[in-house]
Amino acid sequence: MANLDELSAAQIAAGVVAGAFSAVEVALASLDAIAAREGEVQALLEVSEELALAAAEATDAARAAGEKLGPLAGVPVAFKDNMQLIGTRTTCASRMLENYRSVFTATCVQRMLDAGATPIAKTNMDEFAFGSSTESSAFHPTHNPWDVTRVPGGSSGGSAAAVAAGEVSLALGSDTGGSIRQPASLCGVVGLKPTYGTVSRYGVVAFGSSLDQVGPFGRRVADVALAMNALTGAGRDPYDSTSQDCSVDHLTRLEDPIEGCRVGIVPALMEAPGLAPEVRAALDGACRVLEGQGARLVEVDLPNIASSIAAYYVIGPCEAFSNLARFDGTRYGYQEPGCADLATQTALSRAHGFGEEAKRRQLLGAYLLSSGVYDTYYLPAQKVRTLITADYVAAFERCDVLLMPDSPRTAWCFGEISDPTEMYAADMFTISSNIAGNGAISVPLGLGAVSGLPVSAQLQAPAFRDRRLLAFARALERGVDAGRGLGNGAPVAPAFAGRGGEL
Ligand code: GLN
Repeated sequence: MANLDELSAAQIAAGVVAGAFSAVEVALASLDAIAAREGEVQALLEVSEELALAAAEATDAARAAGEKLGPLAGVPVAFKDNMQLIGTRTTCASRMLENYRSVFTATCVQRMLDAGATPIAKTNMDEFAFGSSTESSAFHPTHNPWDVTRVPGGSSGGSAAAVAAGEVSLALGSDTGGSIRQPASLCGVVGLKPTYGTVSRYGVVAFGSSLDQVGPFGRRVADVALAMNALTGAGRDPYDSTSQDCSVDHLTRLEDPIEGCRVGIVPALMEAPGLAPEVRAALDGACRVLEGQGARLVEVDLPNIASSIAAYYVIGPCEAFSNLARFDGTRYGYQEPGCADLATQTALSRAHGFGEEAKRRQLLGAYLLSSGVYDTYYLPAQKVRTLITADYVAAFERCDVLLMPDSPRTAWCFGEISDPTEMYAADMFTISSNIAGNGAISVPLGLGAVSGLPVSAQLQAPAFRDRRLLAFARALERGVDAGRGLGNGAPVAPAFAGRGGEL
């Protein structure tokens, strides 16, 4: 019998539909993999065993009744803990919401369930999605499955690690400034930030509403495409006013040839100070893979991209400050006991409910939005946003996709980056597509020549060209599978492969 981590999401669904194994057997294999691996990885905040078995039993019963099963029938899926799922807590990895039980189910979660997926777990994250290492979780850090002395990236580090460790086949994350792509990069899995508006955020706790986007993690590009079909197939969500109808079949263009297509390279990004030579070497390998399939490289410029970090760390905190005002201990969240008056209760609830990084972001936002300061920072940041968006429009007149790094380096050790601004600076490659809104994907390139840890390439496409993005990602994956480029393409961390999860 196969191990769960050897099968793609499509193979699992096909096996369940064909009766090769039952959805309950798949759920048990996932729970078994969790039992074997979770002690070291700690990717999860809650294992929803009862929900999982009930959903799997319902899938098996539907099959027995001759009903048509969904495209994710029996596929084990985990959800970032900022997504509501009835029957679980939604903590955002914060003391503030430690006891908050989901009161409804987020649209993105519901759509995965409607496609037949089995809800296995909620995943760890940086508190309220502020961070790049999952170290700011109030509960525990998550460990990188490739080397448990290292971080998995963040803020969706639990989702990336759960998929990389083979605990689940798919996971959902959210990406405000790179929180899907960067942990995907550090954990060696595929992570897609779709175009802003593609996937509903209804039921996802907001960080920066003009930047947030939900997207899937998988071990293979086709798995991510399959998840996108589930997330978008029912059209726009009336409960998220930014939601668009993106109900195309994301699998149909996956194997499209890329011959004659133009891949844009931004020299300033490829030569960015701080970009590790092994990451640069892997990206050069990725360029050769795409050229080998007939694509043409063109140099393009994104002249204002150097200002993206500054703009993001103004706009993001301002929106976060506004969104997180609701957690005041009265309407939502931890309530400090025994306070004499409301002002004290609010102040102490927030002081004790939020961790250090969450407070830093909100204080920053409060300051930046205060009168007098607003004109100096917030307004120019919005102007920079317009300039960066225009840069992309100009760049995509000259190329079909952009290829660039995700993370300047491979996974680092716990505590290695303690200065928050150093952590912020490492977001330099991912933030611009949240600012402009276009889709972006992180594609594993195998293991770096120096660190032996996962390295990746980031591809970006014009807004609402996410199918094109997936086709180029698949072209890269084909090259990596064939042993060209840098990596060995191993889909699962060797330390965990085959341990638990027998089907
Ligand atoms: N690392 C970025 C930050 O800390 C991105 C976070 C995210 O995308 N949620 O803001």
